[in-house]
Amino acid sequence: MARYTGSVCKLCRREGQKLFLKGERCYSEKCSVGRRAYAPGQHGQGRKKSSEYGLQLRTKQRARRYYGVGEKQFRHYYEMAVAKTGVTGENLLRILESRLDNVVYKLGWASSRAEARQLVVHGHFTVNGKRVDIPSYLVKAGEEIAINAKSLESAKIQAVLESNSARPVSAWLERDAEGKKAKVVALPERDQIDVPVEEHLIVEFYSK
Ligand code: SF4
Repeated sequence: MARYTGSVCKLCRREGQKLFLKGERCYSEKCSVGRRAYAPGQHGQGRKKSSEYGLQLRTKQRARRYYGVGEKQFRHYYEMAVAKTGVTGENLLRILESRLDNVVYKLGWASSRAEARQLVVHGHFTVNGKRVDIPSYLVKAGEEIAINAKSLESAKIQAVLESNSARPVSAWLERDAEGKKAKVVALPERDQIDVPVEEHLIVEFYSK
């Protein structure tokens, strides 16, 4: 899959809201969404209101970019969500939330989902005691996620832990007192997922 390599801040400006793609900068005054609250490009300041299709497309793109997932994989997640019982849009968000890279970010073990993805690929985490280096691995209720004992000696991991340890952890995850192990208590309910999208628009987009 061709991965987007341009400015990630442009993606937030295109969506008109923060997608938290750049770690600490996203929480600072340097964030481009606050400073330049219009879409990037020559016509960015003169964009007209979206059509219904445009709105559905933008919502799908926003969710995809928020989680850093490619088009093909996102579609695959949608099909998985349809096959499950329950509300398709909520199923989709639950699948996206349970990606290992997202969980690592949520636990404060990375400053952004992009960094989490890189750290997972480099083998810094275990699931139920076994090393897992696949960012798209979907965690399940009851599984234990931990930072590799050897990785805890790495200056990079120590710096990341230090700068993110104060970030609150979602209620569906339980981080131990030392902050180096965690348990998936249960997969999240919709009100525990803070992605800024109306998921029914994504379902409408794919249902056409
Ligand atoms: Fe988005 Fe973060 Fe850049 Fe702000 S700093 S525009 S939230 S990626």
